[in-house]
Amino acid sequence: MLAMRLKVLTVLAALSLGSAAPAYNFKGYYAPAVLESPMVDNVTYTPVGMGIVTSKAGFRVHPVTGRGDFHNGVDLSAKLNDRVYCLLDGVVTRVGWRGNLGVAVEVYHPYPNVRTIVGHLNAYSVMPGMPIRRGRVIGYAGSTGRSTGVHVHYTVIKEDTHEYIEPMQFINQVPQYVVALRSAQAQIAYSQNLKSFRKIDTKLIDVESTEDLPEGKKGKEADPPASMEP
Ligand SMILES: [Zn+2]
Repeated sequence: MLAMRLKVLTVLAALSLGSAAPAYNFKGYYAPAVLESPMVDNVTYTPVGMGIVTSKAGFRVHPVTGRGDFHNGVDLSAKLNDRVYCLLDGVVTRVGWRGNLGVAVEVYHPYPNVRTIVGHLNAYSVMPGMPIRRGRVIGYAGSTGRSTGVHVHYTVIKEDTHEYIEPMQFINQVPQYVVALRSAQAQIAYSQNLKSFRKIDTKLIDVESTEDLPEGKKGKEADPPASMEP
């Protein structure tokens, strides 16, 4: 009995010694294999394929802090290293550690002129500056950043106004954008928007804060739009 207790104490001592320095410093890894999934044009996918939404955009009680905050995206349930897909043609604009979002991949979609961000990834498979197509695997699910378990966070931002778009609304509209992109008109808009897009830094990022994201409606006690009611 005493021997066992001593063993436990030894283990505890070892653990507390180890905790002198923050042990968790995993910032994702690069998985460069090119994987593409043939996504059907008129089918609605989520960034994890067929995902179940676990936490919708809008006001909620944050699972980590326990405080009310503005959730600027949707959380999609996933298993560790599940493939995370790009839903619409675009160009990769930011990759790397992004504070609470953990390891994130941001893609600019010149048509319909939005940016999408997937967060809490375990790995990324694209680099900034890469042009990518619908169906391309851009990363793998994880639990990096401020997260209680493996899931994928998905945020959609309007490029011109920097407003958040309700991600499920966007996801449901993607098939229409895919069809529209077959027209010359949409292709012209695509290349014009791409030309006027800010210069893309092709380095990996490593920022402690998420402050490069728009402020959202933080602090305002507004009801979420009707489309977000359960
Ligand atoms: Zn989230």
